[in-house]
Amino acid sequence: MGKVIAVANQKGGVGKTTTAVSLSASLAYLNHKVLLVDIDPQGNATSGVGIEKADMDQCVYNVLVEDLEAKYVKVPTMVENLDAIPATIQLAGAEIELVPTISREVRLKKAIDSVKDEYDYVIIDCPPSLGLLTINALTASDAVLIPVQCEYYALEGLSQLLNTVRLVQKHLNKQLMIEGVLLTMLDARTNLGIQVIDEVKKYFQDKVYGSVIPRNVRLGEAPSHGQPIILYDPKSRGAEVYLELAKEVMTNGQRVR
Ligand code: ADP
Ligand code: MG
Repeated sequence: MGKVIAVANQKGGVGKTTTAVSLSASLAYLNHKVLLVDIDPQGNATSGVGIEKADMDQCVYNVLVEDLEAKYVKVPTMVENLDAIPATIQLAGAEIELVPTISREVRLKKAIDSVKDEYDYVIIDCPPSLGLLTINALTASDAVLIPVQCEYYALEGLSQLLNTVRLVQKHLNKQLMIEGVLLTMLDARTNLGIQVIDEVKKYFQDKVYGSVIPRNVRLGEAPSHGQPIILYDPKSRGAEVYLELAKEVMTNGQRVR
């Protein structure tokens, strides 16, 4: 049965979507069956794997709000072994529309549970907030992967995220674990990056992945071409490091972190 991993951090621009797309495509490249679930109304993960949002009649909104079965919404992507459940701007209303509904926190879990037998990994790209959509993702997941950008105040706001994780563990999903903390956008030319790595490691210790994602021009370019980095430029440093991360995620199941 597939392992479900939410990529979450309520800060915007820390590399969630880049990580969700690149990790999904890397795991698929390594011969795993993968489902990428986009639950950010901006739909950047959806377009990041080459799906034209304008062509979509249905998206994760219909699953969450209208109880449409997930199997009718998932689509194959340009990457072999990788399917996706897309998000469109329609999802922007879901956060509010879900509030008065029954079992509003477990809707995504129900949807993912109905298809996860078909996959080795399900990767969820979360929006930059700790609202109902992210709660749905955490409730549906076995583990949460937290990207942290290598910048000043890197740890700022993480206590709110960890608090939300604890609340979900207490009330909605006892099994939820911290999958790992991923350092992103490291600028190797500055000392700041090294300081941030030390600080984050002091706080999260062995939860921090050995793979550190550098700032890489090709990673920044790939989304505008609608291609995951492994297709856009497989020889780039960005593609190499996300492949390394995928291997760490694969061995994680066996190792006690
Ligand atoms: P989030 O989903 O957390 O908001 P994104 O993954 O969308 O963050 O990243 C924010 C911006 O930074 C995007 O334009 C993305 O292409 C770019 N980006 C992300 N990671 C890198 C990286 N390692 N090197 C260069 N640009 C990156
Ligand atoms: Mg994003």
